Amino acid sequence: LFSTLPEAPPDEPFSVNGAYKKDCSPHKVNLGIGVYRTSEGSPWPLRVVEEAEKQIHEASDINRHEYTAIQGDPEFLNLAADLVFGFGEKEGSAVSVAEQERKRVVSIQTVSGTGANRLGAELLARNVRPRCVWIPDPTWANHYAIWELAGVPHKSYPYYDASRKAFDFEGTFRTLAESANEKDVVILHACAHNPTGADPTEEQWKMLARLCKDKGIIPFFDLAYQGFASGDAKKDAWAIRHFFHELELVEFCVAQSFSKNFGLYGQRVGALHIALTSTATEVVSEKVFSNLCHLVRGEYSMAPRGGAEIVKTVLSNNKLRKKWQEDLTTMSQRIQKMRHALFNELSKLNTPGEWTHVINQIGMFTYIGLTESQVKVMTEKHHIYMLKSGRISISGLNEHNVRYVAMAIDDVVRT
Ligand code: PMP
Repeated sequence: LFSTLPEAPPDEPFSVNGAYKKDCSPHKVNLGIGVYRTSEGSPWPLRVVEEAEKQIHEASDINRHEYTAIQGDPEFLNLAADLVFGFGEKEGSAVSVAEQERKRVVSIQTVSGTGANRLGAELLARNVRPRCVWIPDPTWANHYAIWELAGVPHKSYPYYDASRKAFDFEGTFRTLAESANEKDVVILHACAHNPTGADPTEEQWKMLARLCKDKGIIPFFDLAYQGFASGDAKKDAWAIRHFFHELELVEFCVAQSFSKNFGLYGQRVGALHIALTSTATEVVSEKVFSNLCHLVRGEYSMAPRGGAEIVKTVLSNNKLRKKWQEDLTTMSQRIQKMRHALFNELSKLNTPGEWTHVINQIGMFTYIGLTESQVKVMTEKHHIYMLKSGRISISGLNEHNVRYVAMAIDDVVRT
């Protein structure tokens, strides 16, 4: 039955992580997988998550293992949508406006960010039937698998200008303006682009929003690093909020993950939000909702409740929210510190090349600028693990290994 199956491609970050675990060298460094690590190289359950877990445990609610609903926990979903769109931040007379705006968004709980991407792709593939999805080159590699499984052909837009080591706005804009058609989908990383760490400026976002509106392109935001990138959840949602307010007549999707900003990687907490136009009727909203529920019911019935309960407990309590903010600051500042440490070490070594991108890029990753063969030497000779594109997870750096990593980079670029 299965003997003629083709080999499925391995997933690179998880393969690299497996190779790292098998390596017995005392010097080994893991810059492959995108997870937060402390300065001791350990996982870090957020302090606020531990406090929320304690509260949940002590409440000992007999319903805690019951089914929720196909769409997930409505209170969690409201809080998740608030975090993205800022509805809950409005005060005074603006509250009623926010309530109206809230009706423009249909939300459903998902199996983390990957599940949200997948569900959104499936909804669009079945109902809108886009001729193609525009995927940034480079991108998080799973975007290719997700859209292939949804049966939508992909095309690439040139996201990264390797010579400037920055976002290629001209290439992106030109490609989409010249070649994208109405009802094509475009994947946009809302902040902290994975793998390059290079984001559009606010002005560039504004121009991309207008382009989507003029051409009828469907924006699909992937939001995996809100708050984790800059330390400020509002700032990291700027692009999405701009699209929402400026493009009242454009529908778009947001795939939201709580893996990084709550450190809940294995708990699989996320949401998919479908932003409707300001003229959409309740009937449209209900249709979108029922179609999403239908897809979820047939796949896995409902997303798991444990991690969502933690996020809900934190976001619904002002004291815990403040603590979450402190934890976000701890993580984003440690990453910033490591960017500067790596840059300083390379500068001290006079390593050939320009390295300011290490401090200019944002979020968990940097596209360090090594070739595939240099990456091979980094791994085989120096036991430093990273993706073959030269993407490194800054979070794998710490005070103990940053000089060693800089010396290895210095070695491979000189030979
Ligand atoms: N999108 C991007 C760009 C990511 O980097 C990630 C995590 N690596 C995800 C989505 C989804 O992660 P998760 O499924 O753990 O939420």
